[in-house]
Amino acid sequence: MALIVQKYGGTSVGSPERVKNVARRIARWKARGHQLVVVVSAMAGETNRLLALAREVQGQPNPRELDVMVSTGEQVTIALMSMALMDLGLKARSYTGGQVKILTDGAFTRARIVSIDEERVRADLADGHVVVVAGFQGVDEAGNITTLGRGGSDTTGVALAAALRAEECQIYTDVDGVYTTDPRIVPEARRLKTITFEEMLEMASLGSKVLQIRSVEFAGKYRVKLRVLSSFEEEGEGTLITFEEDENMEQAIISGIAFNRDEAKITILGVPDRPGIAYQILGPIGDASIDVDMIVQNVGHDGMTDFSFTVHRNDYHKALELLKPVVAHIKARDVLSGDKIAKVSVVGVGMRSHAGIASTMFRALAEEGINIQMISTSEIKISVVIDEKYTELAVRVLHKVFGLDQPA
Ligand code: ADP
Ligand code: ASP
Ligand code: MG
Repeated sequence: MALIVQKYGGTSVGSPERVKNVARRIARWKARGHQLVVVVSAMAGETNRLLALAREVQGQPNPRELDVMVSTGEQVTIALMSMALMDLGLKARSYTGGQVKILTDGAFTRARIVSIDEERVRADLADGHVVVVAGFQGVDEAGNITTLGRGGSDTTGVALAAALRAEECQIYTDVDGVYTTDPRIVPEARRLKTITFEEMLEMASLGSKVLQIRSVEFAGKYRVKLRVLSSFEEEGEGTLITFEEDENMEQAIISGIAFNRDEAKITILGVPDRPGIAYQILGPIGDASIDVDMIVQNVGHDGMTDFSFTVHRNDYHKALELLKPVVAHIKARDVLSGDKIAKVSVVGVGMRSHAGIASTMFRALAEEGINIQMISTSEIKISVVIDEKYTELAVRVLHKVFGLDQPA
């Protein structure tokens, strides 16, 4: 007998029939003698619907009220799931994040989990209940409802698994594991049997939304055994996220290709090339809690240089506003900006021991006439910023050139 945490995403609970289907899967696990904690997302489309509704009433919705509202999506599914389980003759009980309680900081719409009081959950499990917990939500010190950012139910699942020291955290979704790249974009993508935490962290942070990045951070920190599986197929093995030291099989050099279209690029032309200038430009951006991702500064000549960086598209207009006084103050020549960019990244721990990955990547893109606007690297990834319209082409070409395509 083991304690297992299972998380089911929006598509997996997207209709009453699917909720019942998931309940049958849970019943099978229960019949094998396991204790089960089940985390569910809102039904597919519901979170988006609620966000749009809020925006119709208040252009920039108040974050506290927004969390009160969007957290209702998950509240509906926990009750439905409990009902479906009861209908199968199981004992089940649902809890909102606040009821558990999942304590978070007070950062509405992107709160972080601080602690989980698992006593109530343990008591119900001991009593033979399946415990159904609302994903994506918590409560702050002051008792306000908070949410954990888009895709946050993954993090609820992993955090509960860590708190309960569960045997395994299973993330059930609409694909049967983590693929070499998004299978919706590249049909030749292959499921990975395993991927290391480091690689999964990079993939998630570079745009592969199959797992929320914080869930991967949590799993790495608390050593949670984490697996991604399909809720639509009969039992498969999915993808196991492994610690590198556990790995002894031969490792592909590149494990996956990630991409995202969430960023915008800002270039300031004719910036005086002197100490402190990067701070003058990025200081106000940081003070406004806007994350800067890639940064490029050219070699100066005649005392002038150009300075480019990227921010999330949601922060793009705010960043441009904040830059206006700075640009006037430092007497820069002009500002160029646009959000029609994409970031495409190749990820793999094998890069550490292999040279020439960057040149292979750049040659493949050049052969397709794709211009590289920015580059950034770490030990296990290379990212490029390109014109958004070439995203799919770039991902396909790189998938092929690094030998990731499914054998025909
Ligand atoms: P859920 O609602 O279950 O949380 P998500 O939509 O958040 O599901 O995540 C699953 C989706 O992630 C898949 O449908 C797939 O299109 C996308 N995805 C992106 N990159 C990958 C990848 N490398 N492997 C698998 N799925 C990926
Ligand atoms: N329902 C939330 C979202 O759509 C959380 C989740 O599904 O993980 O982002
Ligand atoms: Mg998700």
